[in-house]
Amino acid sequence: MEILSYSAARELLLRRVGPPETERVPLDACLGRVLAQDLVAAENVPAFDRSPYDGYAFRAADLAGASPETPVTLRVTEEIPAGATPTLPVTPGACAKILTGAPIPDGADTVLNFELTEFTETSVRFFAPVERGSNIVRVGEDVRAGTVLLRRGEEIDAGAAGTLAAQGVSRPCVYRTPRVAVLSTGSELVEADAVPAPGKIRNSNAHTLSAALRRCGAEPVYLGIAPDSAEGIAALLEQGLRSCDAVLTTGGVSVGDYDLTPDAMERVGAEMLFRGVDLKPGMACAYGIRDGKPIFGLSGNPASSLINFYMIALPVLRALRGLAQPLPEEITLTLADGFRKPSRGTRILRGRLDLRDGTALLRLGGRQGNAVLSSAIGCDALAVVPAGSGPLAPGTKLKGFLL
Ligand code: AMP
Ligand code: MG
Repeated sequence: MEILSYSAARELLLRRVGPPETERVPLDACLGRVLAQDLVAAENVPAFDRSPYDGYAFRAADLAGASPETPVTLRVTEEIPAGATPTLPVTPGACAKILTGAPIPDGADTVLNFELTEFTETSVRFFAPVERGSNIVRVGEDVRAGTVLLRRGEEIDAGAAGTLAAQGVSRPCVYRTPRVAVLSTGSELVEADAVPAPGKIRNSNAHTLSAALRRCGAEPVYLGIAPDSAEGIAALLEQGLRSCDAVLTTGGVSVGDYDLTPDAMERVGAEMLFRGVDLKPGMACAYGIRDGKPIFGLSGNPASSLINFYMIALPVLRALRGLAQPLPEEITLTLADGFRKPSRGTRILRGRLDLRDGTALLRLGGRQGNAVLSSAIGCDALAVVPAGSGPLAPGTKLKGFLL
């Protein structure tokens, strides 16, 4: 049987999952949340013509003959600070003192900043004509009423937060943050704060993957360690499926005597979607689904589970968050170092992005084996080595993703 590619695997999952329900959340808590509705501007921003400077508002025609030798003097009729409204129209021969952000008074069509004038409390001298309409921030210059500002499925960033606030949207409608149950399987595991007895190891995967989940905008819910028993694993899977939107488990997905996660998935009535993908590291895996809730059964090997998570589970989680574009954007990476081993199947290299010389260089920075987690420290990009590749020379260009 031909082994599934990572892209086919994630397509298979993406067809089966959708975003959770929606909620209204205060803007301050919205960074990284995904909008659940198109956002159409109801108002012009700014809502009125306003001054970008401290200066004077007048009729440009009044300054037609102004020069250093023949300055024009205008009478100051009032002062308009920001937050105030003009009380008088500007008539020929007059001007209003205006401050940054204040509305342009009726009758005035132009503003000049005060540094270019000579002024007293009651009059101002101008030394050159100013083009009519200069120095006015127009109604709708930032946002025109009726414009689509953001679409459903887009993430709220700093610019979006402020743009929403300017529209008076203080509690946008966003998708709920997906909760992902995290469990670790393996009779050899103890928690990170324990001293392992002989033959035991500390559970690192739960921490790696909880951090990766948080990083991608999901909420990890740690359920603990299940020893290698189908009943024990099934009990935690059941708990996860009941309380969360997805379940992420590691260990026990290969084909050994103690690989009981797929059994446990069947016990809880999950539909098995696939076992194993063409990825190195990260080949061993068992993905299933129950009631629209995916179960990501990853390998126990620390690097395998992380790579498989990034390549397959992450886009699914992005879809669960409501993102319209769940697949990571593909970029071209240039290998800074060579990679000697040939790649029979699809291989994923983890490394650090170096943009200093203007190309996207990937520095591998460590061994790439499936048990080597330390080379994932600082890892912010993955490169995909196509199946059938020989050794790779420095400078080789590969497709990749930013994390
Ligand atoms: P498995 O996928 O259960 O065959 O485990 C593969 C390897 O990963 C074994 O060496 C396990 O001891 C190790 N391993 C399994 N679970 C974890 C975990 N939670 N943290 C660290 N290593 C693990
Ligand atoms: Mg095991």
